[in-house]
Amino acid sequence: MDIDTIRSTVLTTPEWLTARAHEWALFIDIDGTLLEMAPTPDAVVVPAGLVQMMDDLARTMGGAIALSTGRSVTEADRLLFPLKLITSGVHGTEVRVERGGEVTMMAPAVSVTLLDEIVAVAAMSPGIIVEVKGAGVAVHYRKVPELRPALEVGLSKVAERRDTLVLRPGRRVLEVIPKGYSKGAGLAWLMRRQPFEGRRPIMIGDDYGDESAIRMAEQLGGFGLKVAGEYFPADEADFSGVAEARAWFATVAGTPTSNPIAGPFPSDD
Ligand SMILES: [Mg+2]
Repeated sequence: MDIDTIRSTVLTTPEWLTARAHEWALFIDIDGTLLEMAPTPDAVVVPAGLVQMMDDLARTMGGAIALSTGRSVTEADRLLFPLKLITSGVHGTEVRVERGGEVTMMAPAVSVTLLDEIVAVAAMSPGIIVEVKGAGVAVHYRKVPELRPALEVGLSKVAERRDTLVLRPGRRVLEVIPKGYSKGAGLAWLMRRQPFEGRRPIMIGDDYGDESAIRMAEQLGGFGLKVAGEYFPADEADFSGVAEARAWFATVAGTPTSNPIAGPFPSDD
């Protein structure tokens, strides 16, 4: 089977993947993929059953699942407590290589001067939230979307003063991240290690930042699955939203469908 056929088979028949789980690895975004977006990052809701489902999924895949998120690994842990899954956090700038293991920082932490400059830009509105995450800083403007252009100008200037930083857009967020790091780089790094090495990666995500990981998954013999939302339009996406993505994960995992998160699959009509 060619990769396009595999891709559509995996989508329509998740059990196909379950039966060949030892050949594949899953890289999973959190916000907008596993969890519905919320007005602030703290306000996301983790539904009953999601933690169990992720545990089932890890077991089904022989351990070859990783979270790939813009959040810090600590934040990912808090959301999926008590699981401590393999995680690429803050766009690949921090990584937990093995389940329950320590977090490795791949890039230096944000300096006080950089943070001061970013806070000064964000002071244009109390509706802007600055979130420090290890090696990166996320500036959330979900409550004041009309300020995005001004915010982008200000943060671009901060990033351009240093040749080590880039400005990365996301869903109602602009992030200042060290150059050379991305979800794609994080995926490639994990794919060189056990239990991922020798498998084919599938990256599932909903946002601009996931595209680098989707491209990397394709380069490594796998593919990406897109979740519709504020970034991917429905006609370009593979899942209509978080609910459909979660139902697909639950089927791959073999989590019983009586589980509240694993609703019925939408029909074709
Ligand atoms: Mg996302």
